[in-house]
Amino acid sequence: MRLGVMGGTFDPIHHGHLVAASEAQALLDLDEVVFVPTGRPWQKDDREVSAAEHRYLMTVVATASNPRFTVSRVDIDRDGPTYTVDTLRDLRRQRPDAELFFITGADALTQILSWKDADELWDLARFVGVTRPGYVLSELGLPKDRVTLQEVPAMAISSTGCRDRVRAGEPVWYLVPDGVVQYISKHRLYRGAP
Ligand code: ATP
Ligand code: MG
Repeated sequence: MRLGVMGGTFDPIHHGHLVAASEAQALLDLDEVVFVPTGRPWQKDDREVSAAEHRYLMTVVATASNPRFTVSRVDIDRDGPTYTVDTLRDLRRQRPDAELFFITGADALTQILSWKDADELWDLARFVGVTRPGYVLSELGLPKDRVTLQEVPAMAISSTGCRDRVRAGEPVWYLVPDGVVQYISKHRLYRGAP
């Protein structure tokens, strides 16, 4: 069983995330990709992140139609800031027979050595760094046998950009799945002061 793990804040989930997961699924022949919305992301203490339940539900809405995509609550149900090492430990405990492939943007992968318990990460999973427009990848110090780099079709979409557009009254149609557009509008997300 080959299990992809797509961690993220998903505030909101957008088509960049979905394309990256789909590309990794195909390239690495993954049986399943589990999306894991973070609890409190330790890197994002500087801004107010939407309630975990909203981010979880948007992720469920966005992935529901793909039979290989699932969503996990491990991070949002754990107290305290989310560290990738805890995510992978929990998933390994839940799915002991799965080989884990952690899918992450190349921008995040370059910070990997600063992650908590970075050394243990290499034993828990293999890493897939998907390239994203505007980020130059430095492979410095990353173990080659544990890291795969993968180009995905250029998708200059970010959650920050989507939130800014909603706040400015601009459309996010086709940047995020239709159901997520409707979820954002129904719950009036991202309307407040920055
Ligand atoms: P924010 O703008 O709030 O930082 P984001 O768009 O970067 O949000 P995250 O939830 O932080 O979204 O990202 C989750 C993962 O998806 C990260 O590994 C990130 O690098 C990757 N990712 C985000 N956007 C894209 C994209 N357009 N193409 C490929 N990977 C992406
Ligand atoms: Mg980001």
